[in-house]
Amino acid sequence: MTEEIFSTDAYARSCEAIVVASSEEGAILDRTVFYARGGGQPGDTGMLRWDGGEARVTDTVKQAGEVLHVVEGSAPTVGTEVTAEIDWDRRYTLMRTHTALHCLSGVVFTRYGAKVTGGNMEPGVARMDFELEAISVEFGREVEEELNARLAEDRPVHVGFMPRAEALADPDLIRTKVNLIPEQVDPIRVIEIEGIDKQADGGTHVRSTGEVGPVRVVKTESKGKANKRMRIELVRP
Ligand SMILES: [Zn+2]
Repeated sequence: MTEEIFSTDAYARSCEAIVVASSEEGAILDRTVFYARGGGQPGDTGMLRWDGGEARVTDTVKQAGEVLHVVEGSAPTVGTEVTAEIDWDRRYTLMRTHTALHCLSGVVFTRYGAKVTGGNMEPGVARMDFELEAISVEFGREVEEELNARLAEDRPVHVGFMPRAEALADPDLIRTKVNLIPEQVDPIRVIEIEGIDKQADGGTHVRSTGEVGPVRVVKTESKGKANKRMRIELVRP
C-alpha cells in the first residue's frame, strides 16, 4: 500500500518516492503527496521527475485501492527513484474550497437542520445539495452571511483518526453517514472544524478557516423534492 502523505500533511507539496508499479496508464509509488480523486475532491495534477526524464501527471485516481498517477507519455519504470510534485496553487485552492464546503454543511445543519445529500468541487467553485423543502435567494444570502462570519473566526481545522466503533457512536459522524464507510476501514479519518463541523473524510483541507477567506453564494436552485442546491465560490482567487 502506498503511504498517503497528504492524509496527515496536506501541505506537503513534493516527496521522494520509488515506482512500485508502472503501466501505459501511469505509475504507482511507495509514497505520495498526490491526492486521488474521491469524496467530491478532484485528483491532483503535477509532475514526476527522475534522473533523465519527467512526466506530467494529468490526474490521480484510485485503482484497486492504490493511488494511480495518470501520466502523459511514458511512465517511469519499476524501481525508478522519482520526485513527485503536485501543482500546489491548484491543490491549495481545492483545500480552501473543500474546507468552505465543510463550513457550509455545518452552518446549514446547525441553523436549519438540513443534511447534505451530495456535493462536488473544482478549484474555487463548488456545489452542495441539501435535504431542504424550499430554497430562495434570501436563504442563500442568510447562509452566506453566517458562513462568512464563521470563516472569519479563524477556527482551527483538526485531522484525527478515530477507532471505527467510537466513530459509529459519535452523533456528529452519524449525521454524515459514517456507517456507509466500508467495514474494513478502521481507524476512520475525521476532520473537525472547531465549533462548526465534524465529518469522516479522506480529503485535504486548510489548517484554519481564516485561510479560506470570504465565500459567495452564487446560486440557489431546486434539484427536486427535498433536494436543493447551493453553488458557492471563493472570493479570493
Ligand atoms: Zn473534507
